[in-house]
Amino acid sequence: ALLATALAAAGLSACTAERTADYYGGAGAGALIGVSMPTKNLERWSRDGANLKELLEDKGYSVELQFADNKVEQQNSQIQTMVNKSPAVIVVGAIDGSALGPVLESAARLGTTVVAYDRLIRDTKAVDYYVTFDNYNVGALQGSYIVDALDLESGAGPFNFEPFAGSPDDNNARFFFEGAWDALSPYISSGQLVCPSGKLPASVDKWQSIGIQAWSNTAAQAEMENRLNSFYSSTTRVDVVLCPNDALALGVSQALSSAGYGGENWPVLTGQDADQANVARIVAGTQSMTVFKDTRLLGERCATMVDQIAKGETVEVNDTESYDNGQLVVPSYLLDPVSVDADNVKEVLVDSGYYSAQEVGLS
Ligand code: BGC
Repeated sequence: ALLATALAAAGLSACTAERTADYYGGAGAGALIGVSMPTKNLERWSRDGANLKELLEDKGYSVELQFADNKVEQQNSQIQTMVNKSPAVIVVGAIDGSALGPVLESAARLGTTVVAYDRLIRDTKAVDYYVTFDNYNVGALQGSYIVDALDLESGAGPFNFEPFAGSPDDNNARFFFEGAWDALSPYISSGQLVCPSGKLPASVDKWQSIGIQAWSNTAAQAEMENRLNSFYSSTTRVDVVLCPNDALALGVSQALSSAGYGGENWPVLTGQDADQANVARIVAGTQSMTVFKDTRLLGERCATMVDQIAKGETVEVNDTESYDNGQLVVPSYLLDPVSVDADNVKEVLVDSGYYSAQEVGLS
């Protein structure tokens, strides 16, 4: 129906719509699926891309997979090239969630269904479905980890706290920050968490003021170095850093090491993605936790979605309220993120076969 609506909106005839549905219908075998991922340089995305391609190929689709080197223009032109080949479905992990409207609208006019992968695509009607992890809950897990680790509920503190947020153009980054903020703000109000650098947004809506552009770990490192140099000393130590993902946590860790942190005085430090280097750091004690988003499950759910679309079946979703992109509420399938620390790292990441014990320093 979405396909027909899109075609109708483009002024194409029902006959074209039927032919297109028919062509990509039936078993859907052989239909072309475009997959556009933001970058190969972050472990999770290269894993996501390869995994999804394999799953779709196993279902009989032919797949064009492109990585965009974190450059908005490059992603735009890669998607345009895909659109010209009339794929049945395009799956997009957006770099800038608000920069893809025109190219995706041209895809919709040709009858291509668009699935937003992991990150919401904003400000256009040309996005049909969204598959992701519960992004608010990712932040909530980071925030509640900090609450427990510092025993804030019992009134402990004050602790020196430094918050970071993700890329200002990534819709997920707001959700991550909001989830963490809701867990932590009572303790900011009570004075148990204090922020010597003053890099605390005035309200959750101002989260972009501490966002790290393009999720750059070197920018996070530079920012942490600045804060440590300007606001900390041998007597004023940082106790806790809210880091939205593992890449930023690595940058922050570099800054901490250079400033002489180590052993007992290493702060509580959060992350996300269960990147291999960070999991090894959890095992070694230099990162407190990460939020594991099993890319195998995300890939499987996305492949199921694509298959249902291509076969003209009802597409399963489990959330039709949370993700308003400014033009429509995008029907979504949300998966559950899992908090991982030294206590459950073996069970969650090794016993499940995601990493070998050796890869993360457990043997
Ligand atoms: C993803 C995270 C990732 C970050 C940086 C977010 O949109 O959900 O898993 O760490 O982008 O690539």
